[in-house]
Amino acid sequence: MDAQEFREFGKAAVDFVADYLENIRDHDVLPSVEPGYLLDLLPKQMPETPETWSEVLKDINRVIKPGITHWQSPNMHAYYPTSVSYPSIVGEMLASGFSIMGFSWICSPACTELEVVVMDWLAKFLNLPEHFLHENEGPGGGVIQGSASEAVLVAVLAAREQAVRRLRLSHPELSESEIRGKLIAYSSDQSNSCIEKAGVLAAMPIKLLPAGADLVLRGDALKQAIEQDVAAGLIPVICIASLGTTGTCAYDDIESLASICEKNQVWLHVDAAYAGGAFALEECSELRRGLDRVDSLNFNLHKFMLVNFDCAAMWLRDANKVIDSFNVDRIYLKHKHEGQTQIPDFRHWQIPLGRRFRALKVWITFRTLGAEGLRAHIRKHITLAKQFEDLVKADERFELIAPRALGLVCFRAKGDNEITSQLLQRLMERKKIYMVKAEHCGQLFLRFAVCGMDPKPSDIDFAWTEIQTQLTSVCAEQQVNARKAGELSELTHHLSGLHVTNETLQR
Ligand code: PLP
Repeated sequence: MDAQEFREFGKAAVDFVADYLENIRDHDVLPSVEPGYLLDLLPKQMPETPETWSEVLKDINRVIKPGITHWQSPNMHAYYPTSVSYPSIVGEMLASGFSIMGFSWICSPACTELEVVVMDWLAKFLNLPEHFLHENEGPGGGVIQGSASEAVLVAVLAAREQAVRRLRLSHPELSESEIRGKLIAYSSDQSNSCIEKAGVLAAMPIKLLPAGADLVLRGDALKQAIEQDVAAGLIPVICIASLGTTGTCAYDDIESLASICEKNQVWLHVDAAYAGGAFALEECSELRRGLDRVDSLNFNLHKFMLVNFDCAAMWLRDANKVIDSFNVDRIYLKHKHEGQTQIPDFRHWQIPLGRRFRALKVWITFRTLGAEGLRAHIRKHITLAKQFEDLVKADERFELIAPRALGLVCFRAKGDNEITSQLLQRLMERKKIYMVKAEHCGQLFLRFAVCGMDPKPSDIDFAWTEIQTQLTSVCAEQQVNARKAGELSELTHHLSGLHVTNETLQR
């Protein structure tokens, strides 16, 4: 493909994307395809001779689009939002155009330095403690990882390596493998699956401590676990708290966890993958309590900040702890400016060597929306979730399972779990809206997250009408089934009576 054809294809692709996003409400949020649909439609081998881009674009409409779950639809209410905006898409396109590698400053100075700039902008926007800023004198700073999962894994691995080094000095009688075999980490039983996975990948068990009835993990649960484990000869390494759990967006008590971590030389990491966006709002300042005492935290711009996947911000109070733990060098990676604090070589802050120019889409998004636009976006999600919460409260057939938190409402149909389960099944079959279920204390519930690129109050009304209508038909069906079951048992009773009479007659 030459530059001229690229211009044509690129412009057609931009039109395609704009049309798609502008008309996203025309599609059911869930696709109507069966497993294997695409495998049957596509040839088993790549074409031997080149095809034209217009043929490919036609096939995107014909075979790819029907198999898309429309995450940018305002009728998407599953998981948490995965954000996008036009500026961010353009940023991604430009980054692809440059196609650079940013693992060290010299590989592309703009990539590293822009990341330093936007991570400081973001830290200030979110009102994070100053020690997380690159511009601050200390060893702290921020980096963009691919996902919250990677950020958590980086924290877990760094905490592990720091603990091993510390213990080798304080307990020379223990071998390294003896130390590694005793390490233990903690999180809440409400935390995201990626935290347990980080433990698996780091070969360090992560104990999932019971959160309170309000789904919050507090220092007393951590204290008790640490005391038990230390008595059993284990070595506590890291606690991963959540600000905004995946199930109900509960906020762990960072202050009380920090007190226990500080006493026990335990690294405290905060996973604020979704809720971190709310740190920017004065009315949510409570959420930031205790952040000045944590060692690291992560927040997904691709959830709440109109920057598309992948873009997970991570801040470290002392980046040297990660750099020391991960520093594996080769002569070909060295350059004459390395080691200068203003220009980190981000390869030491992450798992892969190569790194994308993610800061570009962040910078473009921040500049074209401004702090004002970003705050308005987060507030819009909260307002729409409040609208939904009020609708749930006004219908006595439903109940809330937890207080609304930011853009998430957790609710269920009153009565046994079967009703909520059937309701979800119907909604999934109809494909008009998409939610996922979760469970708390044996109660099944539905998570309604405000998502999509540009959700509006009318979209919330649409979802609610769909939910109400489907619950009405689930209940009607249950009544019909109950009546049928009653009639059947009456008939059986009657027949058994007849049977006795027959026997009596025969006798
Ligand atoms: N942490 C929380 C609280 C989440 O809700 C999620 C995903 O929704 C994750 C972590 C994982 O995020 P990622 O897909 O960026 O790894």
